[in-house]
Amino acid sequence: MRTESGPQGAHSPTDPADPTDSEVSSEPAAAPRPTAGKPFLVQVAALRRRTGATRHEVRQGVIAGLGAVAVAVPAGSPVVADLTLSSYPGGVMAVGLVSAPWIGECRRCGGPVEGTVTARVREHYAPVEAACVDDDAYPLTGDELDLEPLVRDAVLLDLPLAPLCSEECLGLCPQCGANRNLAACACATPGDPRWSALDALRHRDLGDGDFA
Ligand SMILES: [Zn+2]
Ligand SMILES: [Zn+2]
Repeated sequence: MRTESGPQGAHSPTDPADPTDSEVSSEPAAAPRPTAGKPFLVQVAALRRRTGATRHEVRQGVIAGLGAVAVAVPAGSPVVADLTLSSYPGGVMAVGLVSAPWIGECRRCGGPVEGTVTARVREHYAPVEAACVDDDAYPLTGDELDLEPLVRDAVLLDLPLAPLCSEECLGLCPQCGANRNLAACACATPGDPRWSALDALRHRDLGDGDFA
């Protein structure tokens, strides 16, 4: 039974003093933390200087609202991106794996199910200011790219739509609602009306045979 409709209910991320680009700190030579609060942001200036250059990036962070109807990444659980970035004349390729845990409800019995998304990705980033806009590409803004939309898409595409607690799950009895994985109920299984219609047809065929 579901208690909360939205996965973003309990934990609202309280960002402690999110530094914005416009506010330049007065402190001299503060430790450079370009990704503070934005774990999926990658600086690619050096990478883009040479076509064919590659860089391995492992990033992880919490992305809110990653869920479908019956499954969701648990609030507060990190999503991991393990990617190789490579520079090509039109932008940056990102190839690798995105993984995240998920929890959900079995589509037959409603019991808890859990698993892990492991999505293989191969996407590219192109400059947003490019004259010819590439619809398939994620945006490369200046010398910065954000892996979060790629990670989000990959997880959402890979989450199971209708998970099962087990391939052999017996589900709930349609009459009394008992979980048939736990115990057999005493309900009689009525004949399916669709089959009885088929039986009637078969009977008629036999009759035709007599006619010949
Ligand atoms: Zn089940
Ligand atoms: Zn029953």
